[in-house]
Amino acid sequence: MPTINENFLKLEKNYLFINIAKKVNAYIAAHPEADIIRMGIGDVTQPIAKCVVEAMKKGADEMGVKETFKGYEDSGAGYDFLRKAVSGYYKSFGVDIPASDIRINDGAKSDCGNIVDIFGNDNTVLITDPAYPVYVDTNLMNGRKVIYADSNEENGFAAMPDENVKCDIIYLCSPNNPTGSVYTKEQLKTWIDYAKKNSAVIIYDAAYEAFITEKDVPRSIFAVEGAKECAIEMCSLSKTAGFTGMRCGYTVVPHELTVKASDGTEVSLAQLWGRREGSKFNGVSYPVQCAAAAVFTPEGLKEIRENIEYYQRNAKVIADTFDELGIKYTGGKNSPYIWLKCPDGMGSWEFFDFLLEKANVVGTPGEGFGKNGEGWFRLTAFGDKDRTVEAMGRIRDLLKK
Ligand code: PLP
Repeated sequence: MPTINENFLKLEKNYLFINIAKKVNAYIAAHPEADIIRMGIGDVTQPIAKCVVEAMKKGADEMGVKETFKGYEDSGAGYDFLRKAVSGYYKSFGVDIPASDIRINDGAKSDCGNIVDIFGNDNTVLITDPAYPVYVDTNLMNGRKVIYADSNEENGFAAMPDENVKCDIIYLCSPNNPTGSVYTKEQLKTWIDYAKKNSAVIIYDAAYEAFITEKDVPRSIFAVEGAKECAIEMCSLSKTAGFTGMRCGYTVVPHELTVKASDGTEVSLAQLWGRREGSKFNGVSYPVQCAAAAVFTPEGLKEIRENIEYYQRNAKVIADTFDELGIKYTGGKNSPYIWLKCPDGMGSWEFFDFLLEKANVVGTPGEGFGKNGEGWFRLTAFGDKDRTVEAMGRIRDLLKK
């Protein structure tokens, strides 16, 4: 009889969004007439750019012709044309990443989870709280010790390192899901210095970099000096280009990044990661990689910018409503998320039920992202424009004193 990985028994029984879906479905079953507006899950709603769809169709056509058919891709790291396109994209905001340091994946969630394979289970992992649940879950699954850095109202939901705390792996996400907060260059430099002092590795999630509007907010940790010797970066086309249903992202493990093995030899993390991927991942489909490369063409970048601006206008509608109501929030400016303080001291699940019942609006209770999320609530700007305006009208009517 096999034994099981009992670490799974230590996890929350369901992934956060399954619990939310259950509650919403129960409400709909009891109130079939309710006109529910969903601002909970961070999924996009705008269609994929035309030139990106055309590139995917062309890629699919090539698969049906003997001369251009493609089977397994040799390297498994992604086609050169896409890795070079990603490298060029980094260059467009002043960051120099060689194509050879980039591996293409089927989305950032996979790599956020898979990267833990290359680290020992005896590492102590520092995760900012609240956080995207994948960081905590995937480390608990391997039985690692997880400790937390508090992101809270006092620090604007941008946790900074505590010099007295020791750790080996650090997860940072900027722009942050769920809080919408961002790290400035100076703050990231502090994290990098702390990581180097502790010989720790930073796993940096830049899935929302395309939403950054402020000049002093870096779009990549590699825009900050010293990052290449201590950080890995994950990014995704999901929110940048509407790829949540297409599945494509990329991870950068700089060739400069090494960690000491127990026998004292310096080991390249890029080499370990390549080895892991070679055994467990066979790459992203050719038509999807063609589509992804089209995102980085001038036409693609122009088209995706229109969608991002659409969501940014929604974010402003949400932020303006809370400004008017005098409710505290973070995010909205460099991020598609608005993270608000539940009114009247309500708990975050209490506010979830209140909004669902009284306004038929679904959001995400902050508590689902960690203990510091209690009393806070996430709304997303990824919805339809008119429905966002409608939802905020309902919330304004409900909450105005
Ligand atoms: N990282 C963060 C912070 C996210 O919020 C998400 C998705 O919501 C992801 C990574 C995963 O994105 P994907 O797997 O679609 O690329």
